[in-house]
Amino acid sequence: MIGEYSVRDLSVHYGGVCAVKSISFTVAEGQSIGVIGANGAGKSSTLRALMGLVPRSSGTVTFDGKDMSGVPARNMVRHRIGYVPEGRHVFGGLPVEKNLLLGAYARKWNAETRASLEEVYALFPVLGEMSDRLAGALSGGQQQMLSIGRALMAGPRLLLLDEPSMGLSPKLVDDILAALQKLRDQGLSLLLVEQNAKLTFEATSECLVMENGEVAMTGTSEELRKDLRVRKIYLGL
Ligand code: ATP
Repeated sequence: MIGEYSVRDLSVHYGGVCAVKSISFTVAEGQSIGVIGANGAGKSSTLRALMGLVPRSSGTVTFDGKDMSGVPARNMVRHRIGYVPEGRHVFGGLPVEKNLLLGAYARKWNAETRASLEEVYALFPVLGEMSDRLAGALSGGQQQMLSIGRALMAGPRLLLLDEPSMGLSPKLVDDILAALQKLRDQGLSLLLVEQNAKLTFEATSECLVMENGEVAMTGTSEELRKDLRVRKIYLGL
């Protein structure tokens, strides 16, 4: 189906350790899917395998009907798949705007890319205010915004995000949530991996709960938010 991202029987091993055990899910065009789970549940390994950053031991991945299995990470942007890695990884020695422009490396610089830059500044006005500032001088939250902004500069149709709330204050988590909700409402497909279940339920329509490398539960974010077991384990209620 058009714009559908389909993952079938994905497994990841590190030596003899199985980090992801044959998981399957689909992100329909414009859908926002969350993956929650405790530390070590296999969330990052899933995203990294989808991006071609760690080898898969099994599984197929298709986007828009095309096989993504052999696509190296650097070429994912050409297929309009964006990735916001855990830990931000901005270029600290370069100005904010240069970091953003690097996100558009696979595109021709034209009216569309200029519009993308304006959209990023509209989404995160603080980046526009600090466009000349070195990225290394930004706060953790601002660097997270920059990391998301850089991924958006590639003009993705699907955005994979690895723990964007990590290490941020509640106020900044709210700012990131608001940005994700805007992107979702604009029709961008999202795959959000998070330890912060509260944020994930508010940002997505459906979720998977990963435990020990497996999908332990699935449901709408609304259903899972009310589930007693989820409330106890992942929301601390
Ligand atoms: P976190 O929130 O801490 O990132 P996670 O749910 O993303 O957790 P993963 O980082 O995917 O989980 O880890 C899943 C399992 O794989 C864990 O047992 C972890 O110790 C192991 N693991 C992750 N990366 C490696 C690696 N490079 N080499 C060996 N084992 C690894």
